Amino acid sequence: MQRIYFDHNATTPVDREVLAAMLPWFSEKFGNASSIHSFGQEARGAIEQARGHVARLVGSRPADIVFTSGGTESDNLAILGLVRASRAERKHIITTAIEHSAVLNTFQALEASGVEVTYLPVGREGVVDPEAVRQSLRPDTLLISVMMANNELGTIQPIEEIGRIAEQADVWFHTDAVQAAGKVPIDVSALRVDLLSLSGHKIYAPKGTGALFVRSGVRIEPLVHGGHHERDRRPGTENAAGIVGLGRAAELALAKLPVEAARLAALRDRFERAVLERVPATRVNGAGAVRVANTASITFSYVEGESLEIALDLKGLACSTGAACSSGAIEPSHVLTAIGLEPAEARGSLRFSFGRANTSEEVDRALAILPGVVEHLRELSPLYKKPVAIL
Ligand code: PLP
Repeated sequence: MQRIYFDHNATTPVDREVLAAMLPWFSEKFGNASSIHSFGQEARGAIEQARGHVARLVGSRPADIVFTSGGTESDNLAILGLVRASRAERKHIITTAIEHSAVLNTFQALEASGVEVTYLPVGREGVVDPEAVRQSLRPDTLLISVMMANNELGTIQPIEEIGRIAEQADVWFHTDAVQAAGKVPIDVSALRVDLLSLSGHKIYAPKGTGALFVRSGVRIEPLVHGGHHERDRRPGTENAAGIVGLGRAAELALAKLPVEAARLAALRDRFERAVLERVPATRVNGAGAVRVANTASITFSYVEGESLEIALDLKGLACSTGAACSSGAIEPSHVLTAIGLEPAEARGSLRFSFGRANTSEEVDRALAILPGVVEHLRELSPLYKKPVAIL
């Protein structure tokens, strides 16, 4: 069976060119970038070249890029690092209800330690209102953290407007751009972002790689203590192979972005239209908002998303529910309930996220599989009444 992978928001394969760039850094080029001899300096040079590529992907100065182990660490370093480095009297921070758990759970941990948090709601299309951000500001607000693109819906948040509001209010602004990088152009200066998180494994670099943009002048406390690596912001001997891979992935992502975004939007839009036509009682979530090109969130009423995901996987189609599994119970996605879906609808939703290797032919094959599987599961549901053709 030729399997189809429509789950690129979960992770992407390492690009062959990325792997090729990394390989020497596991063996013959093994120097420690802090060593002053030629082995070390070779690694230092490669790391600085990679820093330049990552900086270009987000429009920053290379010196403002800190390499991390991924999106989760970047989010934690931005949020905890900033709060810990700041004066105690600024104790209010703002985020949205649809952030990834890497941000939400960091906010919750801070809340438990006495920091006051505002979680802003989003509208039905999965976008936060910048005016709501402005209204939630207080004299003691320290930080706003709003993701650039949502991982379940693909909806793009009004980062530029929020950046302006943050700047006017003299409040720091962090954005989790893990699902936006490589999918939309990013320019941290135009967006007035102070901190921006990236993850390698969402852009065809390996897992365990990532970066945080920290605008010069923003003080963050490191999460762990050690040497002076990464300008005192992230101690520990650099993962030269991973960083080289991330740099090459960033370079490729930037070069491919315009063509790839248009190609994926066409695949995604065709897929969505066909699903809506061929499968009754479906809706596309966030369809009224500006979205990244590769993401489709579709609610299939009267089915249970996990069962559908498994049934599709058995037929060779990999996608995702986006629901978190906690203590054995399937919790409906916090993102889908935040846009107003009932828990049953949220549980009946799947995310299809397209990527570089996907083809139009795969979309056709997926469309040949999907309607029958949904229909079969619905026939098992006591709630589902098959639409009767009116003659
Ligand atoms: N932020 C968002 C929006 C994500 O989608 C993810 C991963 O799914 C993360 C953060 C965490 O990134 P990582 O898996 O690199 O820790």
